[in-house]
Amino acid sequence: MKVPRKLLSFLRKKDKFFIATHVNPEADAIGSAIALSMALETLGKEAVLFDKDTIPEFYHFLPGHERFINSIPPLITLHSPLILLDCNSLKRAGIEGLSFRHSAVIDHHETEEDFGDIRWIVPKAAATGLMVFYLIKELGLKITSEIAINLYSAIAVDTGTFRYNNTTPEVLRVGAELIEAGASPACISNNLYETWSEGRFALLIMALNTLEIRDNIAITVVTKGMYKKTGAGPEDTENFSSFPRMMKDIKMSAFFREIGSNCWKVSLRSRGDINVARIATLFKGGGHKNASGYEIKASLESAKKSLIKAAKSI
Ligand code: 5GP
Ligand code: MN
Repeated sequence: MKVPRKLLSFLRKKDKFFIATHVNPEADAIGSAIALSMALETLGKEAVLFDKDTIPEFYHFLPGHERFINSIPPLITLHSPLILLDCNSLKRAGIEGLSFRHSAVIDHHETEEDFGDIRWIVPKAAATGLMVFYLIKELGLKITSEIAINLYSAIAVDTGTFRYNNTTPEVLRVGAELIEAGASPACISNNLYETWSEGRFALLIMALNTLEIRDNIAITVVTKGMYKKTGAGPEDTENFSSFPRMMKDIKMSAFFREIGSNCWKVSLRSRGDINVARIATLFKGGGHKNASGYEIKASLESAKKSLIKAAKSI
């Protein structure tokens, strides 16, 4: 993967970076951002890591997770060079009110917005973490064990732990190099998948109990009331949308999470050729071919109906 020269010179020239990633951050967003901040520090630079949402507790095993702040510090100005990671619009990062004179975007989403002076967007890349890996190497820096753990976790999550069709020989080679640099697959998998709280598990049970299959679309729901009952929170729903895709005959899984009164976050997962990024785009969301999301203001039933209609139209 070729790293743009312009991006390399941007990173070499500037000093204090503001690194932001998307709301509801997951391992690719968090791991890529931490790894890049660590690399920039070894170049003698400063980096402020920002996410609008707090880092879920189950990601606290990632070394450097405490670097993230959740509010914009007063020192961040128009002149702070921005690096946007694992997303390509200020809106996705929850900072649409800010403006930056210098910005770089490093992302692998299929759905693109027109933002950033330097735009390195590679939809073919399995994860933003993979791109950051090449970037760090190109800068001539060492992949430390802390960087390796972050990048391995990033790549693992976005490839379904090396199961999805973005798992190429190249991805496995980079994975091997990260293991050699200090990432432990067993330890990381354990942290990613086997450290659930009881509340999170209870929430999954409740979500799965809402299962409805309409037009071969498996629909599941989490309401705010369910958080109260289980003590779990919205961040605990990460990956809930993947479970119904285990059924061989469904074409898509759609997970509805209540985010306000008559307001829903929808996570879509598909298999094969069904492009859910296209469906999400119809609702002003985005994502990848087999994993995407959007928000919708509607009653639950009409939100479901509009999805079923959109799925027929693509
Ligand atoms: P998830 O369902 O896990 O929240 O997201 C699946 C994929 O779709 C991720 O790559 C995520 O970045 C993207 N995605 C989810 N929601 C949105 C959204 O509202 N807008 C955009 N542009 N992308 C989204
Ligand atoms: Mn990603």
